[in-house]
Amino acid sequence: MAHIVVLGAGLGGSIMAYELKDQLRPEDTVTVITKDPKYHFVPSNPWIAVGWREREDITVDLAPTMAKKGIAFKTVPAAKLHPEENRVELADGSSVSYDYIVIATGPELAFDEIEGFGPEGHTQSVCHVDHALKAREAFEEFCKNPKPIIIGAVQGASCYGPAYEFTFILETELRRRKIRDQVPMTFITSEPYVGHLGLDGVGDTKGLLESEMRAKHIKWMTSSRVKKVEDGKMTVEEINDDGSVKAEKEMPFGFAMMLPAFRGIKAVSGIDGLSNPRGFTIVDKYQRNPKFQNVFAVGVCVAIPPMGPTPVPCGVPKTGFMIESMVTATAHNIGNLVRGKEPDRVGTWNAVCLADFGDSGIAFVAQPQIPPRNVNWSSSGKWVHLAKIGFEKYFIHKVRKGTSEPYYEKAALKMLGIDKLKATQKG
Ligand SMILES: Cc1cc2nc3c(=O)[nH]c(=O)nc-3n(C[C@H](O)[C@H](O)[C@H](O)COP(=O)(O)OP(=O)(O)OC[C@H]3O[C@@H](n4cnc5c(N)ncnc54)[C@H](O)[C@@H]3O)c2cc1C
Repeated sequence: MAHIVVLGAGLGGSIMAYELKDQLRPEDTVTVITKDPKYHFVPSNPWIAVGWREREDITVDLAPTMAKKGIAFKTVPAAKLHPEENRVELADGSSVSYDYIVIATGPELAFDEIEGFGPEGHTQSVCHVDHALKAREAFEEFCKNPKPIIIGAVQGASCYGPAYEFTFILETELRRRKIRDQVPMTFITSEPYVGHLGLDGVGDTKGLLESEMRAKHIKWMTSSRVKKVEDGKMTVEEINDDGSVKAEKEMPFGFAMMLPAFRGIKAVSGIDGLSNPRGFTIVDKYQRNPKFQNVFAVGVCVAIPPMGPTPVPCGVPKTGFMIESMVTATAHNIGNLVRGKEPDRVGTWNAVCLADFGDSGIAFVAQPQIPPRNVNWSSSGKWVHLAKIGFEKYFIHKVRKGTSEPYYEKAALKMLGIDKLKATQKG
């Protein structure tokens, strides 16, 4: 009998627990340890911030589903992982031992790396539902007295899709409120060009996004580094290719939301051989840590090197389909290990993303992530907005029901007509 701990119950951890239950032997046990008893569908947070969704719409109480699936569920944050001792220490001083552990703790949001940045400072965030609700309050106040808006992603960020998404969602909402004409909008990003997305572009994301910004009168600044943020003022440096500062600008704003850089959470950071200097968990192609071979990781907490050098650091995004592919491979591999076999399943880590613009959107698929690619496809249209709503409903239903069926593979890829893309392969 083996005991498997899943640390974190977000997009990766919740489905990890369900898929493990299907792959393990009846005598094996699964415990999920997470900070929050409720699951929130993070990709819907931009909609929360403009009032298109309420918290309840995107929340699932995990306890009943976990109980129904026979999964032990502990809602105490992890304080420190001790991989040499096969145990995780929790914030209440207790410890849980394991035979295998899957780290699925997502990102720690590195707002503290820039003075005045983040929801404790002068900018808003949509990375957590609590932040998105706070952003909504700020947005409602802003609409009473419209001023310039800044949206974007700072140096070291890796999650660019939601920055573009939120820009166009806000633009749509401002038009609906008939105050768009009073709001100059600027998109400020660490990317070397609009549509880079941490992936050196996918299909024609550069052309599509630039064209959309031009059509909507949104200005942009690329290769930019935020120096500091003060009340209503952001100091931004534009960086040359050689790393020198081309210009320093003081940008006024009445509302600002920028995606932060991510790092690993403290409980799994600073462990020699387990984590990289940013606290992300190092894994091999089987999602397994090379030093601690009973430790696996899935989701945003996984260490992936950047695509290539850029004047301002840009990370690689980890999107839902890619995370599902990591989850499916990990469940198979742990299933093999408990039966005395070797891991043999590799996540394909394709980037599939739907970015909603409120009344249209863009979709892209990159396989593999690093160019040149076998699939390098992007498209735009109203169908993307509708498809995104479909995925939200489907994924929330899946987490609530406790099903382990990969949703992107079965639904998104079929719909996009590229269902030859597989979530995992033998490796
Ligand atoms: C605003 C935003 C929008 C996004 N939109 C999309 C999209 O449209 N499409 C797409 O494919 N991807 C999107 N992503 C990227 C990605 O799919 C999400 O970030 C996704 O939630 C990542 O899943 P995860 O499981 O790695 O982390 P999370 O979903 O963040 O889950 C982390 C879990 O770890 C738990 N945890 C944290 N600390 C501890 C601790 N100390 N102890 C125990 N548990 C802990 C948390 O409570 C949580 O349950 C978006 C990301 C962001 C930030």
